[in-house]
Amino acid sequence: MEDKNKEPIIVTRNLTKIYRTSKTRLKALSSVDIDVMPGEFVAIVGTSGSGKSTLLSLLAGLEPPSAGRIAIKGRGIHRMSENQLVDFRLKHTGFVFQSFNLFEVLTAQENAAYPLMAQGVKREERMERANELLTQLGLGGHLDHKPGELSGGQQQRVSIARAIITDPDIVFADEPTGNLDSDTADQIIRILKDISDRKNTTVLMVTHDMERAAYADRVIYIEDGRIVDLEEGKK
Ligand code: ADP
Ligand code: MG
Repeated sequence: MEDKNKEPIIVTRNLTKIYRTSKTRLKALSSVDIDVMPGEFVAIVGTSGSGKSTLLSLLAGLEPPSAGRIAIKGRGIHRMSENQLVDFRLKHTGFVFQSFNLFEVLTAQENAAYPLMAQGVKREERMERANELLTQLGLGGHLDHKPGELSGGQQQRVSIARAIITDPDIVFADEPTGNLDSDTADQIIRILKDISDRKNTTVLMVTHDMERAAYADRVIYIEDGRIVDLEEGKK
């Protein structure tokens, strides 16, 4: 499937995250080594508390690692300043959350268009691109609806539109179907799969649901902050 000469778009080595409070020290991620190729659709599967969200937020540059390296498109994001990270995230990544995280006071179209504002795109073009994308996602009749006037599946489609409107290289999705019924969940996964197939966007999706993970090109299992290989036993 992948061109052999292509470089991985995401590389982690010895990636480790420790959460410290005054009394406790919790290793949420332990020496994680991952390579993801451009255009891959990867599911990250593990039980609650295994470190899935931690891994995703480190890869997305939302939280700093305690140790180890993360290279995205060959650039060490673990070494970037907060300003550089903000810029990097805006140019290269999109994020989809379980709870949608849309602005309640904005319409579907304004929510989807939102990231383009930070990129300095003019309002008319922002709204036009959001219209086009929402229409492709079957929401052409709901452009002016606020999140409270949309179903969960519709809200998640708006948040996917928001995540991909900047044409990111990577979309991170943390349990994107966690709040949805089974049929709606399947629709959302198919949209993510379609984005990775058609636009060659790399998609990393966290789920604890094996049925949903089956749509992915590859499944990474995580247990107690470590990647485990179900075929070969624990690494
Ligand atoms: P998952 O997404 O797989 O359910 P998380 O990555 O959210 O797991 O959490 C992994 C572990 O790290 C859990 O034990 C969790 O309680 C802990 N953890 C997550 N975030 C924090 C935080 N900000 N401070 C302290 N502990 C945290
Ligand atoms: Mg989580």
